[in-house]
Amino acid sequence: MTDLADLEVQVLKGVGASLAQRLAKLGIVSLQDLLFHLPHRYEDRTRVRPIGSLNVGDTAVVEGQVLVCEMVLGRRRSLQVTIRDDTGFLVLRFFHFNAAQKRHLEESTRIRCFGEIRPGRAGLEFYHPEYELEPKPLGAPGTETLTPVYPLTEGIQQPRLRTLCYQALDWLQRYPVREWLPDWLLQQYQLPPINDALRLVHVPPASANTVQLMDGQHPAQQRLVMEELLAHHLSLLHLRQQVRSMRALPLKRPGPLAEAFLEQLPFTLTGAQRRVADEIATDLGQPLPMLRLVQGDVGSGKTVIAALASLQAVHSGAQVALMAPTEILAEQHWQNFQQWFAPLGIEMAWLSGKVKGRTRQSTLAAIEGGQAQVIIGTHAIFQDDVRFDRLALAIIDEQHRFGVHQRLALRDKGHAGGLVPHQLIMTATPIPRTLAMSAYADLDTSVIDELPPGRKPIETIAVPDSRRAEILQRVRSACSEGRQAYWVCTLIEESETLQAQAAEAAALELAAALPELTVGLVHGRLKAAEKADIMARFKAGAVDVLVATTVIEVGVDVPDASLIIIENPERLGLAQLHQLRGRVGRGHAASFCVLLFHPPLSQNGKARLQVLRDSQDGFTIAEKDLEIRGPGEVLGTRQTGLLQFRIAEFERDQGWIEEIREQAPKLMDDAVRVEALIRRWLGDRVRYGDV
Ligand code: ADP
Ligand code: MG
Repeated sequence: MTDLADLEVQVLKGVGASLAQRLAKLGIVSLQDLLFHLPHRYEDRTRVRPIGSLNVGDTAVVEGQVLVCEMVLGRRRSLQVTIRDDTGFLVLRFFHFNAAQKRHLEESTRIRCFGEIRPGRAGLEFYHPEYELEPKPLGAPGTETLTPVYPLTEGIQQPRLRTLCYQALDWLQRYPVREWLPDWLLQQYQLPPINDALRLVHVPPASANTVQLMDGQHPAQQRLVMEELLAHHLSLLHLRQQVRSMRALPLKRPGPLAEAFLEQLPFTLTGAQRRVADEIATDLGQPLPMLRLVQGDVGSGKTVIAALASLQAVHSGAQVALMAPTEILAEQHWQNFQQWFAPLGIEMAWLSGKVKGRTRQSTLAAIEGGQAQVIIGTHAIFQDDVRFDRLALAIIDEQHRFGVHQRLALRDKGHAGGLVPHQLIMTATPIPRTLAMSAYADLDTSVIDELPPGRKPIETIAVPDSRRAEILQRVRSACSEGRQAYWVCTLIEESETLQAQAAEAAALELAAALPELTVGLVHGRLKAAEKADIMARFKAGAVDVLVATTVIEVGVDVPDASLIIIENPERLGLAQLHQLRGRVGRGHAASFCVLLFHPPLSQNGKARLQVLRDSQDGFTIAEKDLEIRGPGEVLGTRQTGLLQFRIAEFERDQGWIEEIREQAPKLMDDAVRVEALIRRWLGDRVRYGDV
C-alpha cells in the first residue's frame, strides 16, 4: 500500500525542485512530513473589523471596496492599493509584486485582506497582507473556521503552505497514514484516530470548538501532542535500551580503599550521600552500563560521591574519566582528587584543551597505556585522539552544559573488548521533576536531598546600584574581620573579551576604593595556570576580594568566603544566581548575598529576585525558573534542542508527561512501532545517532 512517507512533495501541483528544496529546510521531504508540519497557532479570521476601529499593531481581517491601485516611487518602489469601507480608508502596500498581481488588483472591486496594521506613509497601512479578491461572504456555510499558522522558513509564505496542506489532505483521503497508537491507549485517554486529528488541525471545520483550538486543548491537538511527547520519550528509552543491551565491566566494591578514603575526610557522609553512593555502587557492580543522573542542590556534596565511584573503578583495575564543563571547575576537581587520591597511590592524569605538545603526547600515552587510572579534565577528553586502555566509568559533572551528543561520544570511548563505560552524570542544579522526566528519560536518577550539617542560611538582599558605595563599605568591614568576598560581574554578551574587560574595570575600581585590601581577578581569558594561581591564593586567604565573571558560577569551593556581591543579577537566570550564591554559606560564618541590580526592574525581574530572597532550596527555585523562563533556559542553551517540539508545548502540556512515563514502557516491545513513531516525529535528527 502507498505510504505517504514514501511520496515526495514533488508529487503535489506547483512543487518543483526549488520549492522542494525550501521545504526540505523545514524538514519536509515527504507528504507525511508535510502533514506532520503542524500549525503552531490559529488566527481567528472569521470576523471582519471596521477599518475605523483599527490601531497600530492589530492583526485583523478587513473587507472593502478597491478604490485606487497605483505604483508609487519613493525610497522604494511600491504598489499602493487604497480600499475603503463604511468607516474609513486603508492602504495596502506591496514592495514585491508582479504584473499579473497588479492587473488582478486593478480589475477587482472588492477585497478581503488580512495583515498587521502599521503606521505608513499614508496613515494606517497593511504591508503585504494576505488577500482574497471578490471574496465569498463570511458567515456562509463552511467558511467560519480558524486559519492555521505554520512555522515558516524563508521563501515560503503561509498561503502557499496552506494550499500544499490542502493537497496533501486529498492524498490522505486516499492513503491514510498508519495509526501507531494502540487502541487501548486511544480509548484510555479518549483520543481521536490519527487521520481525523490531522485533518482537523490543518482545516478545522466550522463546528470545531474554537476556544479549545486557540488554546491548543482540542482533542485532535492533544492527540498529536500526546503522540509527539510519546515519540520523544520512546526515543530516549530506545537509546537507553540500546546502551543497556551492551556489556560493561562489573566493578567490585572498593572496600578497604573506600574506607581509607573516607577516613581521611574531615567529615562524615550525610545520610543522603551514603544512600546515593550505595545506589551507584550497586549499579556499578552490574555487567550492564550504568546510566545514572545525580541531582543535588549546590553544596550538597556531589564531589565525594564522584570520588567514591572512581575508587570502585580503580579497585577493579580500570580507568575513570571525570569531565567538567569549564577549566576552573576541572582544575578544582583535579586538586581535590590529587589531595584525596595521591596518598592512596592512585595515578592521575590531567587533560584540557590547553595541554599541548609534548606534555599532551605523554599524557595521551599514559591514558592509552593504562598507567593513568583517573583522568580529569574538560571536554578535551572527548576528542578522537584520546584513547583509553580500559575506560570503565565516565563521570560528567554539571551535566547541563554538555549536550547529549557528547554523552554519546563518550559511550564510544570504551569499546575495547565490546565493553562500554558506566555513565555517572551530576547536575549543577536540581531540575524540576517533570522536566527531568522528559529530558532525561534515558537515565536513572538519584537525589541528594540533604545538605551537610552546619550550613548557615545565606541572607539575601536586593539593592539598587545607586547604593554601590554602601556595599563597598560592607565589603571593607567583612574583610577587616578576616572574611572574604566574591564580586561577580555579569554581562549579557557571550564575548569573553567583553566580560573580561568589565571584570577588569570592576577590579580596578575596587582596588582604588579599598586600598587596604588585596583584590584578585579571575575571568575566562586568563591562562589556566593564572586562574589556578589566583584561585589558590583566594583559597589560602591571601586574596580578600575575588572579582570574577560568571566563570565561578559552578562548583568553586572556598569555605571562608561569606559575602558575595552579584552585579546586574537581573541578567541571569534563577538557577545561575542560585549557583553563584552557593559559593558562600559553606563555612561557619553567617553569609550574605547582595544582588546589586540596575533599576528600574521589570515586573518579571522583581518577581525573580524575590524568589531568590524567599528561598534557598534549589528544587523550589528550579520550579519557579521553569515557570518564569521555560524549559530551554532551565536546561541550558545547549540542551534546548532536546525539547523542540512541533506541536507540544512543555508548559501547556506537561500534564501528559507523567502519563507517558507510565505508558511508554508498555509500547517498547513493538520495535517496528517504536521506530516508526520516532521517525515520524523526530525524523533523522542527529540526536540519536547510530548506536
Ligand atoms: P556540590 O554538590 O555543589 O558539587 P561539593 O562536592 O563541592 O558540592 O561540596 C561542597 C562542600 O561541602 C565541600 O567543601 C565539601 O568538602 C563539603 N562536604 C561534602 N560533603 C560533606 C559532609 N558530609 N559534611 C560536611 N561537609 C561536606
Ligand atoms: Mg560540584
